[in-house]
Amino acid sequence: MHLADLQAAVGLRTPIRHQLFIDGQFVDAASGQTLPTLNPHDNSVIAQVAMAGRDDVDRAVAAAQRAFPAWSRRAAADRGRILLRLAELIEMHADELATLESLDTGHPLRDSRHLDVPRTAACFRYFGGMADKFQGETIPVEAGFLNYTLREPLGVVGQVVPWNFPLMFTAWKMAPALAAGNCVVLKPAEITPLSALRIAELMAEAGMPDGVVNVLPGLGGVAGQYIAEHPAIAKVAFTGSTAIGRRIVQASAGNLKKVQLELGGKGANIVFEDADLDAAVNGSAWAIFHNQGQACIAGSRLMLHERIADAFLDRFIPLARSVRLGNPLDASTEMGPLTSAQHRDRVLGYVEEARAQGGEVLSGGRPPVDAALSAGCYIEPTIVHARSERDRIAQEEVFGPFVTVLTFRDDDQALAMANATEYGLGSGLWTARLQRAHRFARELHAGMVWINSYKRVNPGSPFGGTGASGYGREMGFEAMREYTQVKSVWVNVDAQVPPWYAR
Ligand code: NAD
Repeated sequence: MHLADLQAAVGLRTPIRHQLFIDGQFVDAASGQTLPTLNPHDNSVIAQVAMAGRDDVDRAVAAAQRAFPAWSRRAAADRGRILLRLAELIEMHADELATLESLDTGHPLRDSRHLDVPRTAACFRYFGGMADKFQGETIPVEAGFLNYTLREPLGVVGQVVPWNFPLMFTAWKMAPALAAGNCVVLKPAEITPLSALRIAELMAEAGMPDGVVNVLPGLGGVAGQYIAEHPAIAKVAFTGSTAIGRRIVQASAGNLKKVQLELGGKGANIVFEDADLDAAVNGSAWAIFHNQGQACIAGSRLMLHERIADAFLDRFIPLARSVRLGNPLDASTEMGPLTSAQHRDRVLGYVEEARAQGGEVLSGGRPPVDAALSAGCYIEPTIVHARSERDRIAQEEVFGPFVTVLTFRDDDQALAMANATEYGLGSGLWTARLQRAHRFARELHAGMVWINSYKRVNPGSPFGGTGASGYGREMGFEAMREYTQVKSVWVNVDAQVPPWYAR
């Protein structure tokens, strides 16, 4: 589907934007270069999108610097009101945004429409409401002095977003930064730039002043790298792979910018012998197959107590085989294609790796046979039994509809196995025993733990990881702390403290 057809399909009167958004205007890249963005259902070109280079980053940063004094001094409630208006506009354009997201990423429309878009609106609404509720403190210091703290915005922040949830992650990154009074230069992933550009357009409609928000599609190694290096950017917030996260940290060293990282994960999803098996089977399918497994918090290590492993798999495998793969725009589709052919091949490479290491492919492991899907980036839901928790398929983030099954004997072994990766993002467990649940909640190396559920997120609940999963937290009050710095102000109200050099 090409841009004009897409525009008709989503019922848009104005053209779908495919230029850079700088200083309130859609403009071509200084170099004139573009990048195609593809529909992963059939790999057809949707649009040629302007590709930002270093000059464009400089232009966007300069615009953001100009906008910062007025934006940061504006009443917090006014900033919030713009975000609240944006949330409404997102809801008004929900069908269109969902279609755009599904075309660009391969998310099934029912997920884009009922999860991604409402969560995007909810995030802007939450931080719109937060803008005038986030405050400093008064500290009880020595007599005669008043000491209080100001939470000040950082300035221009750079944000680099991946391709797995481009719409939602644009909101997760922009909303707290803007509520706190920062200006933003955001780079969407080169393969999924369209929904962030549409958000920029809706921002302008919501009344966002020019220059406060800038959206620059472009290559990670060029525009992304330069955002991380840029001397006038105060902070870089990144979601993506751990390897690139390390490069961002190095690139940030020049001006010692603040860094926030949401990196990979290898979520342990632990099913104990006393779990409600139906709930655990369904929850585990959601944990790994939602969004084709392209989620940093996916439950990609399915750890089963050996007593219930067979009974669990007897239900889980047929469920996985029954998942309806198809064109993301069909209302009945439960799993769409992976977001790029390159990524599909990478995931299939892990199936080969599993076989080479003596793992057993219990289901899937190949593209579907359906001829209607043969031009797309599809993979069947894949379940692989690993030989050992040290195998690469039990250690590395596959980021696809690929779950690695491991079995354990007792709680201690389960805990050691769950904590035996470099990652520490999300983990879940299914059990009826309260004490066990809380022990695991405390001892799992993870930023998020789900008990008798998996993969819950909410704009009020901190999101982020430890270890190779990064640092810093999105969402909630934590996100507002991440996008502000504290200033401590001392006032001599009635202290009689002689200065040192009094004569
Ligand atoms: P990536 O880390 O290369 O890309 C993520 C974002 O970073 C994109 O916007 C990209 O343009 C940008 N980027 C790339 N190189 C950069 C650089 N040098 N400086 C600044 N920005 C740069 O991820 P990918 O190649 O798209 O995916 C590879 C793997 O990353 C996946 O298989 C998965 O394991 C992981 N991943 C994790 C998440 C997550 O949510 N944690 C999201 C996407 C990818």
